[in-house]
Amino acid sequence: RAKERGGNCYCFYSQEMVRIGEQWVLRSELRNAVHRNELFLHYQPRYEVESSKLVGMEALVRWLHPENGVMFPGTFINLAEKTGLILEIDRWVLEAACARVKQWQEAGEIHASVSVNLSYLHFKEPDCVQMVMDILRKTGLHPGCLEIELTESVFVEEAEVALDMMRQLKMLGVRIAIDDFGTGYSALHYLKKFPFDTLKIDRSFLENVTISEADGVILRTVIDMAKKLNLRVVAEGVETEEQLSYLREHACDEVQGYLLSRPVPEEQMEKLLFSISN
Ligand code: C2E
Ligand code: CA
Ligand code: CA
Ligand code: CA
Repeated sequence: RAKERGGNCYCFYSQEMVRIGEQWVLRSELRNAVHRNELFLHYQPRYEVESSKLVGMEALVRWLHPENGVMFPGTFINLAEKTGLILEIDRWVLEAACARVKQWQEAGEIHASVSVNLSYLHFKEPDCVQMVMDILRKTGLHPGCLEIELTESVFVEEAEVALDMMRQLKMLGVRIAIDDFGTGYSALHYLKKFPFDTLKIDRSFLENVTISEADGVILRTVIDMAKKLNLRVVAEGVETEEQLSYLREHACDEVQGYLLSRPVPEEQMEKLLFSISN
């Protein structure tokens, strides 16, 4: 038995070693990913519930790894944050998304706006607002067409700095969303203190909404509260018709999720935009 356990230990240990080794390799590969043009974007459309119109899209980063193939953010965003590489990645995403949407706007009557995720680490960078300003100027995208998605981690540390930066971003005309609402610390006073435009309800709140009364109560309360605070409410991760009709019934403003569309490559996003805009 002891032997067996020893064997397991050895095995566990060596797997751990392999994992650490892989992380080291991945770290250096990630460092080069931006320069080697290995990052690309998918876009997930956002629809207004009442009109069923496509009103926005979220840019979601992917990494075409030379050996592993397409890697999703769940496999490298943590590492990118640990190494600080996220700053560079997000900057690339922001510029690529703004440039693409500007291009679409020039090709036709596109009113949809674009949402980009910024890691909380940007709020430790004094030139964060300048970066956004530079990218807007460089790409020519109207600031009102850009929404920045932030998670609660931004407000846990250095709340005052974050507040100041958010105000500056708002002055540029950029909108700000609180992302994954309900998954973090969710201190409700954040909603009052920070100038958000949009509240994105995390998909975990939707999962059981049509079968559990308690989940329904929570969801409805979040929607009501957001509306009373004048926030636009977006439900994420809508996967079923039942969830959608529930959200419609309770006056959620916008939805995003696999039921309506998965995140899609640029060419497909372009088709969605141009087929819907007239
Ligand atoms: P997020 O910002 O909450 O983005 C939504 C995630 O939910 C996306 O995963 C999307 O594919 C997924 N999703 C959308 N609809 C559904 C649905 O109906 N059901 C289910 N089960 N999932 C759905 P993705 O693309 O893998 O991104 C994961 C996370 O990685 C994002 O979560 C975001 O936090 C982060 N991320 C993605 N791109 C960037 C980026 O450019 N910068 C930063 N800092 N983070 C990013
Ligand atoms: Ca997001
Ligand atoms: Ca989210
Ligand atoms: Ca998320």
